[in-house]
Amino acid sequence: MPLEPMLRQHALAAKGFMPPDEGDALYEAAVAAGAAVPGLPFLEVGSYCGRSTVWLGGAARAAGTVVFAVDHHRGSEENQAGWEHHDTSVVDPRTGKMDTLPTFRDTIHDADLEDVVFAVVGQSPAVAAHWASPLAFLFIDGGHGDEPARLDYEGWTPHVAVGGTLAIHDVFPDPADGGRPPYERIFLPAVQSGRFRPISETGSLRVLRRSA
Ligand code: SAH
Ligand code: MG
Repeated sequence: MPLEPMLRQHALAAKGFMPPDEGDALYEAAVAAGAAVPGLPFLEVGSYCGRSTVWLGGAARAAGTVVFAVDHHRGSEENQAGWEHHDTSVVDPRTGKMDTLPTFRDTIHDADLEDVVFAVVGQSPAVAAHWASPLAFLFIDGGHGDEPARLDYEGWTPHVAVGGTLAIHDVFPDPADGGRPPYERIFLPAVQSGRFRPISETGSLRVLRRSA
């Protein structure tokens, strides 16, 4: 069963970077993970304005669980002024810094997902260091530089329960298609660790099952 049409409309209306077919695949993978490891939460690293979070929130509701959405809401490098993915409407005029939290809250409010989506506002590695719950589903779509990707791999993947799922966005094995860190610093180490087995791919989305 795909995401219900009303919720899907909210996802498609939200600002962000998740293509519709990859969002649908994310949804399917999360619902399956919720059934495979019942009772455990989902967690997203990198929510921006909540676009991917709507697919995950819908999946969490369908699976009877919740999703923690981790983001400092100050934007990644490529979202800053002067870079390709900058949007002046998500700059706080008081501080002059990016702040996607108000837009994120609007997205989750309008999609009526506030009962299952919980924002965690902070630096991903610091949140990961204090995280205690095993996860049914982990979606990594945060900082795409070498260091942020490496830290997300190290900080978050140990929290995926055996039988749970790791999904990674913007995985480009061919450098001609995009930046390499999600592939080199997250996907490859996950497979090479022997803990994760790839189970599907849709566009730049890779889905892996934790097997050990
Ligand atoms: N998943 C979103 C896009 C995320 S963009 C969508 O589908 O539209 C990447 C996000 O990661 C940005 O919002 C940025 O603020 C966040 N981010 C980058 N590095 C981070 C870090 N170290 N800690 C927390 N959030 C981070
Ligand atoms: Mg992405």
